[in-house]
Amino acid sequence: MNNDLVSTIRSKTDIVDIIGEEIPLVARGKNFFGVCPFHDDSNPSMCVSREKQIYTCFSCHATGNVYTFLMNYHHMDFKETLKYLGEKVGVDVSNISIKSKVTKFDKFYDIYNFSNKYYHNNLLSKAGVVARKYLANRKITDEVIKEFEIGLSLEDRGDLTRLLTSKNYELSELNRIGLSSDDRDIYNDRIMFPLYDVNGRVVGFSGRIYKDNGQNKYLNTRETDIFKKGEMLYHYHIAREECRLKKSVIVMEGFMDVIRASTIGIKNTVALMGTALTKEQINLLKRLSNNIILCLDGDDPGVHATLSIGDMLLDEGIEVKVVNLPNPDDPDSFILNNGEERFKNLVDSAINFNDFKLNKLKEKVDFRSDVEKADYINTVLSETVKINDPIRIEIVLKKLAKEFDIGYNTLEMRFNDLKGKTEKKVVEKPIIIDRIKSKKKTKYEKAMEQILYSMLNNDWVISQVSKERLIFPSDQSRLLASEISYYYSQNGNINIPDFYTYVQDKEDIVVLLNEILANDYLDEISKEELFQYFKVIRDYSKNQEIKRLTVLMKKESDPIEQAKIADKIMKLRIGE
Ligand code: ATP
Ligand code: MN
Repeated sequence: MNNDLVSTIRSKTDIVDIIGEEIPLVARGKNFFGVCPFHDDSNPSMCVSREKQIYTCFSCHATGNVYTFLMNYHHMDFKETLKYLGEKVGVDVSNISIKSKVTKFDKFYDIYNFSNKYYHNNLLSKAGVVARKYLANRKITDEVIKEFEIGLSLEDRGDLTRLLTSKNYELSELNRIGLSSDDRDIYNDRIMFPLYDVNGRVVGFSGRIYKDNGQNKYLNTRETDIFKKGEMLYHYHIAREECRLKKSVIVMEGFMDVIRASTIGIKNTVALMGTALTKEQINLLKRLSNNIILCLDGDDPGVHATLSIGDMLLDEGIEVKVVNLPNPDDPDSFILNNGEERFKNLVDSAINFNDFKLNKLKEKVDFRSDVEKADYINTVLSETVKINDPIRIEIVLKKLAKEFDIGYNTLEMRFNDLKGKTEKKVVEKPIIIDRIKSKKKTKYEKAMEQILYSMLNNDWVISQVSKERLIFPSDQSRLLASEISYYYSQNGNINIPDFYTYVQDKEDIVVLLNEILANDYLDEISKEELFQYFKVIRDYSKNQEIKRLTVLMKKESDPIEQAKIADKIMKLRIGE
């Protein structure tokens, strides 16, 4: 691989922008933080440094430069990543040739892609007049039809299957991927909405009836190897960029809602498509934003779903808000009936999920019953415990005291009681993580890592290490030190991200490098401090040597040899 190309492309990219396109980052001090995508987490434990052009996760210790991030995140190899980045920043990468990987699913994607175009053309053709009228009635314009690639399956009952088999696709395959049943089409006379995977490829359809013929309203493609309902969110591939700009994602129930919202410029939306929220979907949502706004239907099932989904997301440490539509509106009907402005106002004034939950709870309480009243107050208190803002807590307690005519002190006491109980639970977590993740380092290990870190960051340390003939006591550290020196002699400076690329195949070194960069070592040290660390290393090496010689001496049977070794030990001890 051409090294110039590697560093040219790297120098033209900013790691904060590139990672920021994939996961939400927030600035804190001079660094940026986000939820690490390389382990299951909800805390922002990944730190991205603009200055150093590296990322590092304090929890799972994933560390690297912009290349390693993209390789791991998108499962691309180095060449693919280079091409991807080069194209992005306008560097000519036409010389890099990548053999496109043929997967056994390519054919499926082709079939869906073809079918999608076919359905879409049907809708735009004469055969689509009635369906287009239905859509126009629902204020779905031709522009929207094109944007969302809406289509139409014909009444014929076999046209698509015939067309696909004439293109040499096997009937058994068409059956398997849910487009045909024997030699008949699955979809007949329905308006077809293509469903996309997270990369924007068509992997299925949802077909809607548009004449009153008593059939199920929607018919979805059955699950296949490439279409798993619980692992996708409608509109995800479009929402990605938009969620990053808006710093939030709006979750809706149906794709008609998402399509409608898009017509009024709200595009940071995804739809669940009538399933319960899965773990995979939560992970997808987390990739979009940490601020999730639930905007489900205003009817009872919608409220019910909001409550259960909100709790699931809250458990993941996500900020959840709710847009509570009036019953029985869904976003689609609300926007049509009340207009763009009112919907946007509702979204802007979305309420905190906890407040929503308490409001709903309150609606059910019979306030004539003391028991129900007390239950309610206790529930409110235990929800309030989750709030981190002392001012908001006081507001809630005061409101409760006034509303139910209970002493503020009584409420506060009970609140503190509950708080104490949950706090014990919370503190245990980081300790456990700490114990597993970072074993305690000895003084010598810390000194060694600080010296290596300083070599990476300050040129003068490299020459000091060679001038003082410092020898590192482990193979791994010796290797890293010699690679740093070599890299420096070749390039005249150390650029950590490029150095990463340079050592990427040497696994041992990368492990140590990750460890060093994931910890908080001093960026600047004085010569005196450096020499202190040298001394720690030398003392350690000396003690190791003394230990080795002592063992040797004990094994030795010849008294003269024994005396020689004892003399060596002595000299080491007194520092000769
Ligand atoms: P429309 O406005 O066209 O009636 P909607 O968005 O209001 O559509 P809902 O009935 O609220 O539809 O359903 C929400 C989502 O649930 C739909 O987008 C669809 O993905 C899914 N869904 C609804 N009914 C069915 C069904 N019978 N079979 C499979 N999926 C369905
Ligand atoms: Mn609807």
